[in-house]
Amino acid sequence: MDAMSDQLCRAYDAAECCRNVHSDPAWRTAAGQVCMQLGDYISQINHHEGMYRRLSEALEAFERSVAALARREAPQLSPAQLSGWCEETVLVARKLKQDMEQAGIHLPPLQRARVAELMAANGHFAAAFNSALTDPRKVGRSTAGLGRSVPLDPASVAAVMAGEPHESVRKEVYMAAGSSPSCNRELLDRMVGVRRDIARLQGFPSYAALRTSGSSLAAAPAAVVAFLERLAADVRPLAGQELGVLAGLKASDLRGSTAGGPTAVHAWDVEYYAARARRQLATSPASAVLRFTALPSVLAGVRLLLRRLFRIDLAVEAAAPGEAWAPGVLRCTASHPDLGPLGAVYLDLGDRPGKYPSAVTFPITCGRQLPAPHGGRQLPVMALLASASGTCPSSGQPAMTWRELRVLLHELGHCVHNLLSLTKYQHLWGTRCAQDLVEVPSHLFEYFVADPRVMALLARDRSACGAGADSGPRDGEPMPEGLLRELVEGRSATAALELQQQLVLSLADQWLFGEHPPGPAGAESGGLPTSDVWQKAVGLASSVAFVPGTSPELRVGHLTIYGGAYYGYVYARCLAAQLWRSTGLADDPLDPAAGEGVRAVGWFLTTGAGRRRDVAGQGRAACEILRAQLLAPGGSVEPLQLLAGLAEAADTPSELEERQRQRRRTLNPPQRTRHDPDAAVKAGLLQALAGGYAPRPERYLETLKAGL
Ligand SMILES: [Zn+2]
Repeated sequence: MDAMSDQLCRAYDAAECCRNVHSDPAWRTAAGQVCMQLGDYISQINHHEGMYRRLSEALEAFERSVAALARREAPQLSPAQLSGWCEETVLVARKLKQDMEQAGIHLPPLQRARVAELMAANGHFAAAFNSALTDPRKVGRSTAGLGRSVPLDPASVAAVMAGEPHESVRKEVYMAAGSSPSCNRELLDRMVGVRRDIARLQGFPSYAALRTSGSSLAAAPAAVVAFLERLAADVRPLAGQELGVLAGLKASDLRGSTAGGPTAVHAWDVEYYAARARRQLATSPASAVLRFTALPSVLAGVRLLLRRLFRIDLAVEAAAPGEAWAPGVLRCTASHPDLGPLGAVYLDLGDRPGKYPSAVTFPITCGRQLPAPHGGRQLPVMALLASASGTCPSSGQPAMTWRELRVLLHELGHCVHNLLSLTKYQHLWGTRCAQDLVEVPSHLFEYFVADPRVMALLARDRSACGAGADSGPRDGEPMPEGLLRELVEGRSATAALELQQQLVLSLADQWLFGEHPPGPAGAESGGLPTSDVWQKAVGLASSVAFVPGTSPELRVGHLTIYGGAYYGYVYARCLAAQLWRSTGLADDPLDPAAGEGVRAVGWFLTTGAGRRRDVAGQGRAACEILRAQLLAPGGSVEPLQLLAGLAEAADTPSELEERQRQRRRTLNPPQRTRHDPDAAVKAGLLQALAGGYAPRPERYLETLKAGL
């Protein structure tokens, strides 16, 4: 079933990528048609009774046999059959079964048809909601004073909020955008209703409960909400301080024009004064950074970094004509001295009209172990899109702002997760892991752009040294540490206010799709109307007052995509902050043994504590812990086990060494060690909360204050 799913995904994922990124509209249209046709076919497969029956029977036979063995009775399956069920096979079988059940296969025919109908409606409402956001006729315009008329699409509104000095103009645009596009009100209400019905037909109290069932760290929406509410309370004092600074800036603007008293910072003021506050702390001109971030130099830096972190070698060349979706796309082929070839990433960093608007990674082929007789691994292929909006003053080449560099590193984190994932099945590969762990590696990678040791590799003015792809770590002039400090401080100016926005979105997402859903049907179960949910979230999590008469939820496309899972971003921020410290990355992000020609016979012999002990005589390689315990397992280990393993490896290097020693004895994939599920709690990574698990936020709040 996994091989079949792989065949379908390879076609569907390639089409999905093309549909979004291809520079030729004819290709985009054709790819869109492929997605529709394949989507229909996939939903037929998910309703295939024969396959569901065989899968359920096989899983039951295994589970009955295990139970029989535990009672010292003869199992139904032969020893040979039982040996086919490794832990990852059990997990993938359960997940495939659950996927089919989410399509309603286990329900009576009438209810099953109803689920299919509701899922189609859900897809339709979500697509209509998102397309309205960029449809000029639907969002409308605001006559913004000063003879201007501003279109109310998200990008234009954001530009006014960040850069318009006249408060009356900002306010007018904010108010107009606050009830636009009006068609999204009904679409959101109906989406909420449809998702509630899907969940109830399948026996879940809410859509959020359906999303956290199966493999998730949170396990229950109540744990998520309790976590978000506590974090909101914890960050409020810091956000209040930041808001005080913004109020001071606004008061100095208004000096003489008001009658004293405290200056209120309104929702339409935040972005404008936040940008001013950041500029006060980071006084160097933007071009100061751009000198060190020309694309060829960043690319050389990324190659050095991956070698120094994970010993990944990246061979970069231009994609052949017709191989990629736009001119200028690069093909990066990754390999590892001991693991062998790892896969390929197509890198699309150039600017062109109509390019996909945000940075993103698309999987095109997933990694998996190929079945006998041929064996070996199916190597993954991905597409990474990011942008470089500046120009390097030394070389005239396209260059990245510091923020764009952070975004690139984030996406690179997703790619490296996938390249280093060594799962048996594609269904559990790399980023196909639990929804509340998938963003952890990418958020860990974001820390690199605030670290001077890493930035000394990444950001250099290599314009004078030919900036070849093979330039060494000391070629060119590094970005001054003072400039980096400025950027980090600038970021710290409004970090807590920015977290509050994430908390508002996460809470609204939980409540809209939670147990007391809003909307007309919600009244009977005590829920709020949809329009009041956002206001309630703002009241709980934001230091900036809600503006009556506005409905910001009509403009949040994330609500359609995540539906009860957006909290994963906040989980990832907290977990990344803990892991940055506990794995040792904060002390020494770069492996001193890597990149200096240390090569050994097999990775079993050379990885982790042993190698570092031998070579550097100290500590353990932080990146090796990450690779072995977080990236390689992908979704093939339950999230709680995964974090327990990480906590144990980071905590007790001797145990890690012991496991490495065990691995040397066999060339087969290492035996799974069962970790104490409470290890992650004991190590301070997690807290048990309201029937589930949540990260501990202390370290994250520290890094937030520091702007990291
Ligand atoms: Zn991400």
